[in-house]
Amino acid sequence: MTRVVAGIDIGGSKVLAVVLDERRDVVASVRLPTSIGAEGVVRSGAEALRQLAQQIDVRAEDFTVVGVGVPGLVEVGSGHVSHAVNLGVGGALALGPELSRRLGVPVVVENDVKAAALGAAQLLGLEDADLAFLSIGTGLAAGLVTGGQVRRGARGAAGEIGHVSIDPEGPVCRCGQRGCLETFASGTAIAAAWPALNGEPPAASLFAAAAAGDSRAVRVRDTFADHVASAVRLLVLTCDVEVVVLGGGVTNVGSALLDCVVLALQRQAATSPFLATLNLPARVAVVPVGSAMGAVGAALSGLAAFTSGDTARRRSDDGDRPA
Ligand SMILES: [Zn+2]
Repeated sequence: MTRVVAGIDIGGSKVLAVVLDERRDVVASVRLPTSIGAEGVVRSGAEALRQLAQQIDVRAEDFTVVGVGVPGLVEVGSGHVSHAVNLGVGGALALGPELSRRLGVPVVVENDVKAAALGAAQLLGLEDADLAFLSIGTGLAAGLVTGGQVRRGARGAAGEIGHVSIDPEGPVCRCGQRGCLETFASGTAIAAAWPALNGEPPAASLFAAAAAGDSRAVRVRDTFADHVASAVRLLVLTCDVEVVVLGGGVTNVGSALLDCVVLALQRQAATSPFLATLNLPARVAVVPVGSAMGAVGAALSGLAAFTSGDTARRRSDDGDRPA
């Protein structure tokens, strides 16, 4: 039987879902608004899969495996999610088992940033490179892919560099520490330094004002870029990944972000022969605006777990082994 693999990226405002063919190309996609809360999240995921099934004219239960990417703390083994604040899920949610029960398919749940790292590697043709995906959105976090696999670490915290404190006198972070990198290099940090008017995204407003020559905007933008560059440096110095791919909501400003970060990396290396040898400016990339990297990565996470025999349905029903 032909494998049909789906990936569902459940974000705070929208659900993006894709079907991958045997060559890992996207052959169908669906976009829906997210219903918030535990039941809403499960319903949104199930609805996305039903619509995908309709598009390619199969039944929901015909999917070989479904990978789901969600924000928050994910226990990949059990498919449980907690602290998914953006989704209105404060406590624990048995997302994998619940979706699997409703749809009759094996479901694998992965943290959205870690899934997006796999998706970025695939979409940028970097499957063989060690790569970090740096998500610059409401918060700041990285997903690491080494040897073709997502690095989770002992407690799933690998890549949580947004909570490295760089200024003990800095602003209080939502994690309870002071001066975390995330309080300087995130969409939230931009919104605090450059509150936008008229409902425009603060990052877009800031970069437009800076491009138009507003000197205060240039300062705020360059300080922000300096901190993103610090995050890039941190990732390379801890993991020596070949490429750091910038993604997340802030990258919707386009190539201007990459340009500023590259300039910041060049500035930082100008006085350090050590940093200069690492050639950081050449090792940063940005995901194309509007790419389905999160959903593609979720599908790949699902496929990887399915191949290794580690899915919610298999654990709950050892006798049922779909082809
Ligand atoms: Zn923090």
